[in-house]
Amino acid sequence: MLSKLDPQVALQLSNSGPRPKAAYLHVPFCYHRCGYCNFTLLAGRDDLHERFVDAIGTELSWLGTPQPVETIFLGGGTPSILSPKLMERLLDSIGTWLPIQGAREWTIEANPRDITSSNLKLWSSFGINRISIGGQSFQARKLRVLERDHSPEELSRSIELAVSCMPQVSLDLIFAAPGETLDEWQADLKRCGSLGIGHVSTYGLTFEKGARFYGQLQRHQITKVDEQIELDMYNMAIDTLCALGIEHYEISNFAIEGQACLHNQSYWNSDRWWGFGPSAASYLGSTRSVNHRGTLQYLRRIQENLSPIDEQDELTADQQDRERFVFGMRQRKGVAWDQFKADFCENTFQAIQKCLDKHIAQGWIEHAEDRVRLTRAGLVLSDGLWHEYLTCD
Ligand code: SF4
Repeated sequence: MLSKLDPQVALQLSNSGPRPKAAYLHVPFCYHRCGYCNFTLLAGRDDLHERFVDAIGTELSWLGTPQPVETIFLGGGTPSILSPKLMERLLDSIGTWLPIQGAREWTIEANPRDITSSNLKLWSSFGINRISIGGQSFQARKLRVLERDHSPEELSRSIELAVSCMPQVSLDLIFAAPGETLDEWQADLKRCGSLGIGHVSTYGLTFEKGARFYGQLQRHQITKVDEQIELDMYNMAIDTLCALGIEHYEISNFAIEGQACLHNQSYWNSDRWWGFGPSAASYLGSTRSVNHRGTLQYLRRIQENLSPIDEQDELTADQQDRERFVFGMRQRKGVAWDQFKADFCENTFQAIQKCLDKHIAQGWIEHAEDRVRLTRAGLVLSDGLWHEYLTCD
């Protein structure tokens, strides 16, 4: 198993292919666990925050030498939960080991209740220039159903404050919450036009194993929104946000010009990235690795000077090409097919071409000029299409 204790190994990997452009750091704490969430996190464990900041600082220091990146994403969980003192320590470690250069985008995910003038000032002073707000809805009923801990008023106030201090503000919105109507969803979308938000991410509610909602659904205590209504909600998001000038640039993401998320584009372009913290993935050279998902196990391993890595895969050239195609196709602009043709090995190219021909004939993908991309009909099916591209002969 690869050990992050040996900085030479990590550096060797990062130098063995394209240079990593991005870094993701996972803060695994929240105030409470929302009913639909099965992420790697601990709720109400403030007692572990300091140990975590020490541990991730140690993991970063195992890089050995500072590694410049173009984008940083501090996600979770709820990174904004950390006290100003601990946040300062964390941001200081990140700034030391991952100096930001080039494209320069540093995002923090924040709970609306943590968005205060003093926090915004602190985050900005370390170079954070993008805030991603876990708002989910402006409707009191929907927020209650989703078990969120903020009110519509708090969300509006936090957005206003963030927009006045941060160059880029993104809002997460969930649709298809139990009992939600198309009118409620339309109202949520329309609010985006009046608050100065430059980026919106929308996700249909899912019922994942490990989340409380999953068990409630099995016991018929909650009901899923009808599939056709969920589809209509997705299409409504595209129509409403685009009409507000917030363009659709990826299956679930919308932005005004110049505010598409550079960090996520790194994933969709199959760039290489570093990952730190429990459950964080890295992609270096042709190696994909994932840290231990359990926070306590992650903390223990770092304290015992053991690698936090739990799983590690070596991707073949064929797997890398297929993933590059699939991730690229998530973007509305699609992929430059002639470029892929030149880069892919012959067998992979032939296999993907066969799938593509089929999906073009079905009207789910279009080939215009030198690009292939999802059609509007293909967008709603896309999650069901990708497996074929990853496995076809
Ligand atoms: S949905 Fe977000 S805020 Fe809620 S528990 Fe999950 S990570 Fe935390």
